[in-house]
Amino acid sequence: MTDDVTCPVCGRMVPPGRFCAACGARLPHGGSVSAQRLHSFTVNPSEHVLHPSPVSLLFPHLPQSESVPFRLALLVISAALVVVGYLRLSGASVALAAAAVPVLFLVYLIDVDVFERRPWLTLALTAGIGAVLGAIWAYLTGRYISQTELLNATHAGAPVGRVLIVAVLFPLVAQALMLVGPLVFRGFLAHDEVLDGYVAGAASALGFVLTSTLVNLFPEVQSGPTALATDVFSAIITLIHGLLLPLIWAGTTGLVSAAIWLRSGRMRATPGGGWSTTYLFVVGVVAVAHVCLGFAAIYAQHVSSALLIYCGIALALLFISRFSLHHMLLQEAVESPDSGEMVCAHCGHVVPRGAFCPDCGGALRAMPRRGTLPGERRVR
Ligand SMILES: [Zn+2]
Ligand SMILES: [Zn+2]
Repeated sequence: MTDDVTCPVCGRMVPPGRFCAACGARLPHGGSVSAQRLHSFTVNPSEHVLHPSPVSLLFPHLPQSESVPFRLALLVISAALVVVGYLRLSGASVALAAAAVPVLFLVYLIDVDVFERRPWLTLALTAGIGAVLGAIWAYLTGRYISQTELLNATHAGAPVGRVLIVAVLFPLVAQALMLVGPLVFRGFLAHDEVLDGYVAGAASALGFVLTSTLVNLFPEVQSGPTALATDVFSAIITLIHGLLLPLIWAGTTGLVSAAIWLRSGRMRATPGGGWSTTYLFVVGVVAVAHVCLGFAAIYAQHVSSALLIYCGIALALLFISRFSLHHMLLQEAVESPDSGEMVCAHCGHVVPRGAFCPDCGGALRAMPRRGTLPGERRVR
């Protein structure tokens, strides 16, 4: 078009606007030029990249205007976990802890139609494989882990080798198992965008959470309708298993999967922040988080200190994952049809098809796929 402008960051001719439709940089018209535009998260441009919200991270295709029911659902789930845990209702606690977040994620997948082609096959390959591996893993390791925790409570403590197996080896193997589903999925279906990988990883992790929590907490149900632990202890354990663990595992698995997807296609150079999308950084962060959680599970003196450690790690992972995913979307090279317009789900404006909305800067890949025409494609 004749009124197109040259982006000072990527050099492409793009429609005039506050953001470059090709590389997502903030253009002079929107203030000072910024390739990283940290004030505007590519997944949800109304938020700063370091805004402390897990919703836009766990549900990246959900526009801000449609996120309220999911925010409320997460709040209701949190409150319900605390209440059934505090009332020591063992059956309800186990069922809610295992299924609440995975079911909410399933509702999200159906709502935004992420895997518009063969959604049930996709779910079977991601969440299904995760669920099968989670059940097997919890069955094989559960007794060893609980014995180690009991040994550690004695005066002599658990042997160092045993502690290292439970705190370091087991969490890393569990993380590797959660990545099996996304990798199988990648081999079978042509979903090649970074957010496809992220969502496939999260789905696999939540399948793993569902069954491993059921297997791990099943002895609670066998012991009777009321949990043996005190009310506060039971509430905190239910909250950790039902909310923090699913969020952490979905985040770590999603992040590693997204990095794999990013590096399987062409990437754009971004000035600054690229280090946060490298395998070294992503795998390092995920490994450190798992090992910290592994040691916390064994050595935390009181369940409230375990809760604090889980919350701290979840918060750190939240900021790191948002920063990393933001830069992955800036780095992911996509090509767009030369013509055509679409309604941006982030700001509601009719904008030219491209990688980013020129008005709000939101990635047009981070939108519901329901009813959309074929748009941008990943550059291989
Ligand atoms: Zn540009
Ligand atoms: Zn927009």
